Amino acid sequence: MRDQAISQRIGTRLSRGYLVGFGLLVIASEMLPVPRAVQDTVYDLVSLSVVVAIVVGTRLHQPRARVAWYLMAIGQGLWVIADTTFNWGQDVLHVETFPTISDGFYLLGYPVLAAGIALLVKDRMRARRDLGPFLDTATVTAGLCLLSWILLARPTIESLHQSPGAAAVAAAYPAMDILLVGALIRLVSSPGGRSPAFRMLLAALALLITADTLSVAFDLFATNTVSVVEYLWLLSYVAWGSAAMHPSMTELSDPVSSPELHFRGLRLLAVVLATLISPAILAVHEVTGVTVDVWAVIIGSVVMFLLVVMRMSLAIEQIAAAHEALEKLQDELAVQATHDPLTGLANRTQSMRLLAGSLGRSRRSGTTTGVLFIDLDGFKDVNDSHGHRSGDAVLRQVALRMGEEIREGDFVGRLGGDEFVVGIEDVTDEADAIALADRLIAAISKEIVVDETLNVRVGASVGIALGRGGETSVETLLNEADLAVYRAKAAGRGCALLFGGDARAALKRHHDTELAIVEAIARNELVLHYQPIVNLHTSEVDGFEALVRWDRPGIGLLHPAQFLPIAESSDLICDLDAWVLQTAVTQLAAWNEERGDRELQMAVNISGRHISRQRIRHDVAAALGVTGIDPGQLVIEVTETALMDGSAAADNLEVLRGTGVVVSLDDFGTGYQSSTQLLRLPVDLLKIDRQYVDTGSPATRSLLELMVKAAQAFGVRVVAEGVEHQDQLDLVRRLGCEYAQGYYLGMPVPAERLHPREPRMLSA
Ligand code: C2E
Ligand code: MG
Ligand code: MG
Repeated sequence: MRDQAISQRIGTRLSRGYLVGFGLLVIASEMLPVPRAVQDTVYDLVSLSVVVAIVVGTRLHQPRARVAWYLMAIGQGLWVIADTTFNWGQDVLHVETFPTISDGFYLLGYPVLAAGIALLVKDRMRARRDLGPFLDTATVTAGLCLLSWILLARPTIESLHQSPGAAAVAAAYPAMDILLVGALIRLVSSPGGRSPAFRMLLAALALLITADTLSVAFDLFATNTVSVVEYLWLLSYVAWGSAAMHPSMTELSDPVSSPELHFRGLRLLAVVLATLISPAILAVHEVTGVTVDVWAVIIGSVVMFLLVVMRMSLAIEQIAAAHEALEKLQDELAVQATHDPLTGLANRTQSMRLLAGSLGRSRRSGTTTGVLFIDLDGFKDVNDSHGHRSGDAVLRQVALRMGEEIREGDFVGRLGGDEFVVGIEDVTDEADAIALADRLIAAISKEIVVDETLNVRVGASVGIALGRGGETSVETLLNEADLAVYRAKAAGRGCALLFGGDARAALKRHHDTELAIVEAIARNELVLHYQPIVNLHTSEVDGFEALVRWDRPGIGLLHPAQFLPIAESSDLICDLDAWVLQTAVTQLAAWNEERGDRELQMAVNISGRHISRQRIRHDVAAALGVTGIDPGQLVIEVTETALMDGSAAADNLEVLRGTGVVVSLDDFGTGYQSSTQLLRLPVDLLKIDRQYVDTGSPATRSLLELMVKAAQAFGVRVVAEGVEHQDQLDLVRRLGCEYAQGYYLGMPVPAERLHPREPRMLSA
């Protein structure tokens, strides 16, 4: 890595230094009045330096296409030999004949250089196996060949008609330049980035071709402007050498991952211009009367015509192939959007769509549509004990088996997880739907072979809902089937249950009550009662628990058991809790004011759903922020089941405790967790459920003792709930509970019936 960075830095410096140094040398030698011999020496030096530069650059940067660069070095080397022999012949031996041995070296250099460039971009081109660019290059090259033949080669040959050998050699130069043009077009049309090395190589080629063409033209018209041509050749060398030493020279041969076409429009323009060369030549001939080689024009036109036809047929093929690929992709996307990738069944969206179709048809035909909601029993165990791979295999098997049970026209979909849906049309009798459900349960419950070593069994509970389009919607039908499956599970699993009239009424009542609670919160129909919590060491009231009631118009005061379960079935409970939090804390702030201290605590119950939501943090912060009470005065009561619901609840509690809020574990002893496990949870207080305080049996008394001891061992203070008699109070005091709460110590009452200034009155 480090070495690479160093070689990159060296390469950049070398490349720049070379470009500037030799560039200036070239300009100076051509501009200043120096003797011819000096100029020739500079020329030889520069052309030799390219070979060195290419070798140095290749060794330094180690590109993929080393062979290509070495070919270019050889090509340039051949030209060095050619230049030297030419200058030697001219300056020392004063040879004026044409051709000489140096022409052999010159002409040999061209194909070697062209091959080097072709090889250089081979890997770039590989990413796109496409004959198109090649055909385009061929067309343009053919056009240029024609032009070069008409303008340069043929007149050259004619001017040397007395010596056919010389004519052939002279005509070979423009032909060789065509090779370079081909290489240039290949370079330009190769995909991938345009690095500094790329640009310099391009410049070198363009300068070279221009200089060569000018040289032939000047020869032809016997104009002595050698110095301009020489100038361009030298600059081309410098650009070439600088390209070879630049670190970006490696990118030229790097394969391109997503080839984008370069110069698409430019290439088209080049092809069009090339094909217009023939008519242009004829037009010039017609207008000026200059004689042209008609056969060359004919041959050139035919070649270009054939190339263009090939290009067209290729393009048509490519378009057809692209179209086909697009259609395939569209089909695949459609399947992906509508199907569950694991089982191949309709996904939730598609299932809803299919059900909507069934309902629509049932409305028109007056028939009934049935929805079977299938929930697997015991699937979680398979997943947990044998891994997701086995779980996936089970889901696939179940999907297959269900597919085999249904009639044509009905469908099976996967709603997600281990929940499936079956839609059936034309249900004439409830019994048919129930029979299908039973068949599905039987099929699913058969042993499933996961692999050679593992056979598992899962079961299924099914909820059925029936309806007609116009009378019911897809959502309602699915909801009803969902509720029925919930009841089927509650009824002992492995059975099918039909959503009936009473269930429908219950669902409606549920919805109505939910709406009523929303309104109750908005209209302040909820009220809080406060029950004192007594410190058993001081016999004083240390705080209160806020307990919600609903003063429902026309019905009277409702207790939490009568409406909380409904609020708890949705996020509505969070709004309710937030209202309680705010109201209780506001009351506490008023008491703080009255008492002139900040010693009372206020306990507020927070449901499991709320405590596992992020919003609890904001709700608590908002309540504290508005009232300005100490966080330590607020106690959050959560039940142990709420804490078993995953890490979100524990995280939130941790954050709340961090701000100073006290956390209390409510109804302790009613869950399933062992006490030691629970005591590791982030809590400050433990409220032992009242069933343990009820001193009926010695066994419960021992349990109570055990819990108090465990809590003390973990340094957690204990509140005894439900103290109704003096002997219960004596017991919990004796066992070492710090606090007690119960009807004996104080009933939950509205704030106006409390006198927080005289706490002793309340502590009985
Ligand atoms: P909890 O948090 O365990 O509250 C104590 C419950 O025991 C209260 O019933 C209280 O009236 C009752 N209680 C107190 N002392 C005695 C006693 O000596 N004997 C008997 N038999 N019962 C006693 P309540 O007010 O009906 O509340 C029932 C439950 O509803 C609460 O149990 C709490 O879990 C929940 N709850 C009450 N208010 C809220 C609230 O604002 N938000 C949430 N999420 N839940 C609340
Ligand atoms: Mg409570
Ligand atoms: Mg409790």
